[in-house]
Amino acid sequence: MFKPKTIFFEKDIENYELGKELMQKFESVPKVQIESHNNIEELRKSENKQFLNLKQNLIIGVRKTHKYVENHKVSDYLVPYTSSGCSAACMYCYLVCNYNKCSYLRLFVNREQMLEKIIKTAQKSDRNLTFEIGSNSDLILENTITGNLPWTIENFKNTKNGMLTFPTKFDMVDSILNIDHQGKVIARVSVNPEEIINQIEFGTSRLDGRINAINKLKDAGYKVGLLIAPVVMVENWKNLYLELIKQLQSKLSEKVKKEVFFEVIFMTYSYVHTKINEEAFPNAINLYSKDQMTGRGKGKYMYKNELRKDGESFIREQLSKFFPNNKILYVV
Ligand code: SF4
Repeated sequence: MFKPKTIFFEKDIENYELGKELMQKFESVPKVQIESHNNIEELRKSENKQFLNLKQNLIIGVRKTHKYVENHKVSDYLVPYTSSGCSAACMYCYLVCNYNKCSYLRLFVNREQMLEKIIKTAQKSDRNLTFEIGSNSDLILENTITGNLPWTIENFKNTKNGMLTFPTKFDMVDSILNIDHQGKVIARVSVNPEEIINQIEFGTSRLDGRINAINKLKDAGYKVGLLIAPVVMVENWKNLYLELIKQLQSKLSEKVKKEVFFEVIFMTYSYVHTKINEEAFPNAINLYSKDQMTGRGKGKYMYKNELRKDGESFIREQLSKFFPNNKILYVV
């Protein structure tokens, strides 16, 4: 389990059961009281090269913004839930909008309020709604600290018209295997070639661990999906991803292969990532490529259209060859 170096906490957390529990759990960790989890002066002043040190802090607060964002992929809504940020350090992480504000792990202890809003929204709806609760963080990782996933699933399972979903790059799924989920959860495991995990997805689970995790989740009756994400066009990338797809074909259980669906996302990157990564990981691979990438506004980069199209055809071709009966929900 993640052992924080320092805990920054809002005073209000002591009014919540989970807040009290966490304070007790981390009794021996040095603590700093803060006004707001959104603005921690001491962390804001840190330099880019201290990025990994920043990630060793844990912030505990109360979530005040509960705005849902409509989504049209796996879910109907992206829902702010019990955490944001992460203690791992994938070099492209989409949560690194501003390193000193949203990259480190923040836990929000008002889980009853957040789950109640999801349940009420589902109950009011006349159609089945799916809520993405893991778009701001990695809930399997968070769960090793808070135990929020079994709590959430147990309390959500009897909700009419609703499903929950979350993606993960971690394999610590055992605590949700033996619970009664009523088929109301879609667990999506994000995979990449082992070489990419080693060089870019620092602090996440190995590929084999993730494959075992999805096999276990399926055995436990969960609906499952695989994200090939993000596809990183390093040198030799086609060979690496072909190898990955072959490994999935040979190591996924028959049960998973029977119904798993795919989502494929090509990497996007940004000026902020470039700046942080060159100082925080001076010996790591440079993910920005002037030849391969083009700007898409606000300091963001994406692969050039012709490259991306070729990449999409390649991945679609290989998936149809090795997984002819499985759906590809989208490639973006
Ligand atoms: S595991 Fe997910 S949330 Fe954590 S650093 Fe990697 S991409 Fe970001």
